[in-house]
Formats: sequence, structure tokens, C-alpha cells
Amino acid sequence: MINRLVVIGLGLIGGSLALAAKQRGLCQTVIGCGRNLNKLLPAIELGIVDQVSADWELAVSQADLVVVASPVDAVEAVFERIAGSIGPDTVVTDVGSTKGSVIAAAERAFGGLPENFVPGHPIAGTEHSGFEHALANLFDDRKVILTPHAGSTPAAIEMVSNLWQAVGSDVVQMDSATHDQVLAVTSHLPHMLVFALMKMVADRDDHQAVFDFAAGGFRDFTRIASSDPEMWRAIALANDKEVIDLLTSYQAQLSELVERLRDGDGDYLQQLFGDAKRARDTHLVKPDE
Ligand code: NAP
Repeated sequence: MINRLVVIGLGLIGGSLALAAKQRGLCQTVIGCGRNLNKLLPAIELGIVDQVSADWELAVSQADLVVVASPVDAVEAVFERIAGSIGPDTVVTDVGSTKGSVIAAAERAFGGLPENFVPGHPIAGTEHSGFEHALANLFDDRKVILTPHAGSTPAAIEMVSNLWQAVGSDVVQMDSATHDQVLAVTSHLPHMLVFALMKMVADRDDHQAVFDFAAGGFRDFTRIASSDPEMWRAIALANDKEVIDLLTSYQAQLSELVERLRDGDGDYLQQLFGDAKRARDTHLVKPDE
């Protein structure tokens, strides 16, 4: 059991982890830290945390595990603020959607990578923000990727792994560069495409009529466009090189499609659609779907 768990940035992810840990009795005390104490207080009534604090330095000085769950462009300032207060045995992790940027931020803020620092990323979420939307089962049967650095201690990795496993997740490890490449494909690129699509459709003069006829497929496909713009600004900029490479490849694929449509090349279209269907059916559709 963890004695004191401190979550800095009590939003959807931090709040869901705190709630899951509390409901499963994994910690003696769960403390939520944020910038505005009044905003945090309802989290106690909602059973998400035991205590809230705006004194992050005091909270982390007594913590066994600190989870930084703020947007990826804010983690460096959070690390800087807590760097002088973390005890020698306190383990620090994060939940950020990009890992190279978080590790670089930690290196600058801590003056090197602490041996008790284990970066992480739960592959779970919704399009909502804030602890009001926290879900105790958000991490059930979901993957959590840990990207320990060369100096992360086995004991620190074990503590972070154990917490995620105890809230229902399947923990895997990979290096941060691989993480950022993979997530750029599966998450960052789709978000960019859907943001661009929704903007394009919304800018049409007839957008109301179009949206009136939006069927389930369009709604499903564009759900993630409702995600928080500030969070996605931070993610896109933090993983910009990977995202630019993928957008450039996708542009080439779309240009090819436009040309083949102009040529009325049905064989090309059928081949493309067939290849795409086979890829999805093989890799993403479970037998019972
Ligand atoms: P969220 O609901 O908006 O929560 C983020 C929290 O961070 C806020 O409650 C806020 O708490 C704090 N915060 C915001 N700006 C800050 C700043 N400038 N400095 C310090 N703290 C700040 O976001 P989330 O969806 O939980 O995402 C949190 C992290 O998880 C992000 O790094 C994101 O990349 C990652 N993630 C998100 C998802 C997802 O689907 N949403 C999935 C996996 C990972 P206070 O206002 O109380 O300070």
C-alpha cells in the first residue's frame, strides 16, 4: 500500500487515477494539488481525494508517490516548483501524452534525471476535462506505457507499475522516442485530421444543414474534436516533428487520391479501400465485434 499519493493537476486523468486508487483502497491518503484551492474542494465531496492543497511543496515533501497530471507544456514549471521539496525516496511519475518533451523538461527542471523519476502515459481518456468527469474505471483493461530513463531504479518502476496494475491497467515499457512515434500515429495525427475536418465543415455556408444530417458515423469519427484545445495545442507542439512527418505523408496520400478520382481510376480506389479494410479487420477488429 502507498502511504501518501499526491496528484498535481487534478483533472480528468489525475482525478480518475486518484478516484480509482481511493475506491480500491490502494493508498492511506490521496492528496490533490492544484493552483486554486476553492476549485479543488469539491473533489473531496466527490470522494476523489482525501485532502486538497495549494502548498505543493509541503504535499510532495511527505509523499511516497507524486503523479504530475498537468498539460505537457506545464510539467516543466511543476517540476521546477517541486524540485527542492521532494524527499530522497519519493517517486515521481507523470501521465503526459508526449514523453520526449516531458523527459527533457525533467532534465532541465531537476538538473538531471532523478533515479526515482518514471515517466508514464495511460492510453485512456475521454474528450472531457476536469475532475468532475473523473471515472474510477477509466483505466480498466487499458494500456499504460512507462518510458523509464536509463537511471530509473527498478524499485521506482515497480511502484509506478504496481499502482497502474492495481487500477486495472496493463503496463508496458518502451523508450520515449518509440512512444512518441507510435502515439503520433494512433492519437496525435487522428486529432489533427479531425480538428481540420470539423473546421472545414464548420466554415461552409451550409454547415447547419450539413450537421443536421450528420449520422452516427460522422459523430463517432469526429468525437475527439471535442477534446480540450489547450491540451491539444500543447501535445501538437511537444511532438511537432512526428506530427509534421505524418501530416506530410497523409497529404501525399490525399493528393494521390484526388488525382486517381480525377482519372476515374476505380481499380485504384477499390484496391485502396480493400487494403484499408483488410488492415483494420486484421489489426483492430476483435473476433466478437
Ligand atoms: P484536464 O482535465 O484539463 O486536467 C489538467 C489539470 O492540470 C487541470 O485540472 C489543472 O488543474 C492543471 N493545469 C492546467 N494548466 C496548468 C498549468 N499551466 N500549470 C499547472 N497545472 C495546470 O486534462 P487531462 O485530460 O486530465 O490531461 C492531463 C494530462 O494527461 C495531460 O498531460 C494529457 O496530455 C494527459 N493525458 C490526457 C488524456 C485524455 O484523453 N484527456 C489521456 C492520456 C493522457 P488546476 O487548475 O487545479 O491547477
